Amino acid sequence: MQPKSATEIYVNRRQATRPQSPLLSLVVPVFNEEDVITHFLEATRPVLNQTGLAYEYVFIDDGSRDRTAEILSQELAGGLPGRLLGLSRNFGKEAALSAGLEAAKGDIAVIIDADLQDPPELILQMLDGWRAGYDVVYGLRVDRSSDTLMKRSTAGMFYRLFNRLANIDMPANAGDFRLIDRVVIDALMKLPERNRFMKGLFAWVGFQTMAIPYERPPRKAGAGKFNYWKLWNFALDGLTGFTTLPLRVWFYGGALVSVGAFAYALYLTLRVLIGGIDVPGYASLMVALLFFSGVQLLSIGMIGEYIARLFNEAKQRPVYVLQDVIEGAPANVDAANGQADEQADVR
Ligand code: UDP
Ligand code: MG
Repeated sequence: MQPKSATEIYVNRRQATRPQSPLLSLVVPVFNEEDVITHFLEATRPVLNQTGLAYEYVFIDDGSRDRTAEILSQELAGGLPGRLLGLSRNFGKEAALSAGLEAAKGDIAVIIDADLQDPPELILQMLDGWRAGYDVVYGLRVDRSSDTLMKRSTAGMFYRLFNRLANIDMPANAGDFRLIDRVVIDALMKLPERNRFMKGLFAWVGFQTMAIPYERPPRKAGAGKFNYWKLWNFALDGLTGFTTLPLRVWFYGGALVSVGAFAYALYLTLRVLIGGIDVPGYASLMVALLFFSGVQLLSIGMIGEYIARLFNEAKQRPVYVLQDVIEGAPANVDAANGQADEQADVR
């Protein structure tokens, strides 16, 4: 028999101790999703009922200015199990996810977008992976044709750069859509930083992970919330949060330039000694001046990026501010399933 790998041994051990009927928390950040949220509930409830597990929804209203919160609180009052956390303003998806994971009571949590770009049916496969002993089961986008070419190629570049610079392995084309075990939630909650680049944090905490490939469909309704400026800042947050190489690289750049400058000075001295003084050289002076001013500004800017983030961390402000919590029905297998049927009749 082949010797077992460390992963196999761990996964087998975990498999043996999985609780029979875990509570599942579905963590859903929502920001102005009134067009799609009802579709989302209709698509997810049958899948959740199919799992046969007790489940709860944990919605995080990330400062929506439309009817999202109203629709959800009506559903919760009407027997939807779980709760709606209202943030006091828009804090961004990463902060919303932190809030949701903190409020999730489940033994397992599934993080899912409200726009149905993360197919709910995948939850069943994720559960199989969890039962097999994996603590993280994430959706891997094999087909991103629903994203624009520009978004796909910039995302590809980002993943390559990130994995080269940071010392952790972040799978390319994995979104936030994933199932995580309680041990992973607890590990994430222990990370004190305010820069919540979740994909990086997921990778940083580690644990045994399994990927489930899927094709990412386009948004069901409503509009995407990220523009290129937001994505650029998101990428910067990701990189600066997980690698200090952009800060340190200037040391080597500076060293290289110094060696070059020294060699050039030597050459100039020799030339003057041999051939006498000559004045021309305006062009080379200007080029050198402009080039190195540029490099200096760039390096100062890079330092600025880190100082700004240090400043944010040093202020110790909370990641989000809760405005209110609306409780729905308690998570209960039978009650949940029964109510789902009732609601189906009403519609
Ligand atoms: N979202 C959020 N806060 C934000 C932006 C987005 O909670 O500031 C939520 C949004 O409601 C959705 C999920 O994050 O459930 C993903 O958003 P979107 O579909 O716009 O992102 P994309 O699919 O383009 O990555
Ligand atoms: Mg989307």
